Amino acid sequence: MIRATLIALSHNARAKRFVLSNRLARRTARRFVAGEELDDAVAAARAANDQGLTVSLDFLGENVATREAAVRARDMYLGVFERIAREKLAANVSLKLTQLGLDFGTEFCEEQMLAIVKHAESLGNFVRMDMEGSAYTQRTVEMAARLRRESAAVGTVIQSYLHRSEADVKTLIAAGCRIRLCKGAYLEPPEIAFAEKKDVDANYVKLMRILLPSGVYHAIATHDPAMIAATKEFAEEQGIAKDKFEFQMLYGIRPDLQRALIREGYRMRVYIPYGRDWFPYFMRRLAERPANLMFIAKNLFRRAG
Ligand SMILES: Cc1cc2nc3c(=O)[nH]c(=O)nc-3n(C[C@H](O)[C@H](O)[C@H](O)COP(=O)(O)OP(=O)(O)OC[C@H]3O[C@@H](n4cnc5c(N)ncnc54)[C@H](O)[C@@H]3O)c2cc1C
Repeated sequence: MIRATLIALSHNARAKRFVLSNRLARRTARRFVAGEELDDAVAAARAANDQGLTVSLDFLGENVATREAAVRARDMYLGVFERIAREKLAANVSLKLTQLGLDFGTEFCEEQMLAIVKHAESLGNFVRMDMEGSAYTQRTVEMAARLRRESAAVGTVIQSYLHRSEADVKTLIAAGCRIRLCKGAYLEPPEIAFAEKKDVDANYVKLMRILLPSGVYHAIATHDPAMIAATKEFAEEQGIAKDKFEFQMLYGIRPDLQRALIREGYRMRVYIPYGRDWFPYFMRRLAERPANLMFIAKNLFRRAG
């Protein structure tokens, strides 16, 4: 219920105005977002690299309103790859197709993506297409498979809460596409998505067991100790070496667990978002853990009291 409300509010202009003008909410958001500028993300990336973690930089933005904004986002990403190379960061990039104009047509968006993929490839880097709401799943999977034919420098994401994901995993593995497995962060109807956590988790483990032995380098993205334990156990049982896949977590969430996995010899990549358009990302993070919301509420009441 709280989750559904928060995710629905992530598209609400009034909620956005309220949160952006609230100092405590802005401060809480800083736990999940490195800052508003690329310099902030670079500093966070360097700190993570110094601790043995690789990173993925995400310039926040989604569902842009104009084609011009999509082209500006493309140019921003071309610059991010230059900066990563110049700073010698152990970093790649994650982005959303609706930031690159998917709402204005698949062909237009794919043109922007292809420019980014080719640039990433020329610098020996990699770009990951995040997975958004289910309205975009089919187009994202198809575009990932097409772009993968052009270059190995592109991959995408699969969400274990969707019923269709096993079929998508098989399609993408056949295309040689690198996959990040996550549970899924959007609000989806029960006709297409598992509603119960136990079913989402069971599907996560099932998909992980398909991904790991596939011979493609995939990412297991979760903060859930049970999913992590299942992955370690399966990899060990199958003799899959620790450098044949990576764990991924979000900036600001379970840094203790991130460091513990590094100490155990696993690969760990931290997803570092930055930029001014942090509102929807922040709301999804609140939705994942209502305790985050309670923290804000308690502080608001303490001030009012
Ligand atoms: C690197 C990365 C990339 C992602 N990319 C995508 C994507 O492209 N598309 C997409 O739909 N989703 C994406 N997600 C989000 C994902 O789908 C989940 O919503 C999110 O990771 C929470 O699921 P979980 O696996 O951590 O398990 P959960 O069962 O939700 O959480 C397990 C535990 O993790 C901790 N935790 C989880 N979330 C939070 C939080 N917000 N604040 C504090 N603690 C928390 C808590 O201790 C919780 O008990 C991504 C996640 C990661 C880590």
